[in-house]
Amino acid sequence: YFIDEKCLKDEEIRIDAYNHKHMQRVMRYHNGDQVICILPSAKTYIYEIIDIETGLLKRVEELHENHELDVNVTLIYGLPKSDKFEWVLQKATELGVKRIVPFLSKRSIIKTDAKTFSKKEERYQRILKEASEQSYRQMIPELTQLITIKDLSQYLSDINLVAYEEASKRGEECCFASALKQNYQTLTIIVGPEGGFDQSEIEQMKALGIQECSLGKRILRSETAPLYMLSVIGYSREL
Ligand code: SAH
Repeated sequence: YFIDEKCLKDEEIRIDAYNHKHMQRVMRYHNGDQVICILPSAKTYIYEIIDIETGLLKRVEELHENHELDVNVTLIYGLPKSDKFEWVLQKATELGVKRIVPFLSKRSIIKTDAKTFSKKEERYQRILKEASEQSYRQMIPELTQLITIKDLSQYLSDINLVAYEEASKRGEECCFASALKQNYQTLTIIVGPEGGFDQSEIEQMKALGIQECSLGKRILRSETAPLYMLSVIGYSREL
């Protein structure tokens, strides 16, 4: 469970209502059961349930495990239709993404704006929290507000790669996997919406020092591409 720092005044804590309800109603825990709680600082502890009725927990010990990727990956993602977006939120969390930056661009299919998008913030946060707990992460990925391509420079990293579907058709493309051979601590990957990228948008990104790359000869769907990239990144960190 992800808990916030303020309820950690001492050994015993009263768990917040949302997590308390999950422990009592969903998991049906009893007094004496133990749960893992993670703080925003990523500190991880085992807690014992002292009183499930009132949500009273007692800290047992600190766990020194880290399941996070050793590089910070930001996914700048062309917002697709909402069910696909929610699916990518969950899968990208399992694959270790640190931050997700949704954007609208020329060929976005979905018609929305930042205000409408922010109304779903609570729902999206719940998906991210549950996926982080299920995949045993030490942090919940950050989801930023909905931006446009002109705002993306503030989310760039040591290495910035835009997956461009035309690059793979041209053949002389920079292959994504080889781009990962460079040394980096932070990495930003950019994936277009269902309609893909406009050449002018690619030129705009290259002017910011973003490298275009191919994900191979087949054209992946907008919801497949980020997961392929995160999988290759995860694999390359294991090598
Ligand atoms: N509608 C476009 C495909 C868009 S796929 C067409 O049919 O040509 C959505 C996004 O996934 C693309 O903008 C790109 O970021 C990424 N993508 C999918 N397949 C790719 C590939 N083979 N190489 C590079 N990027 C790819």
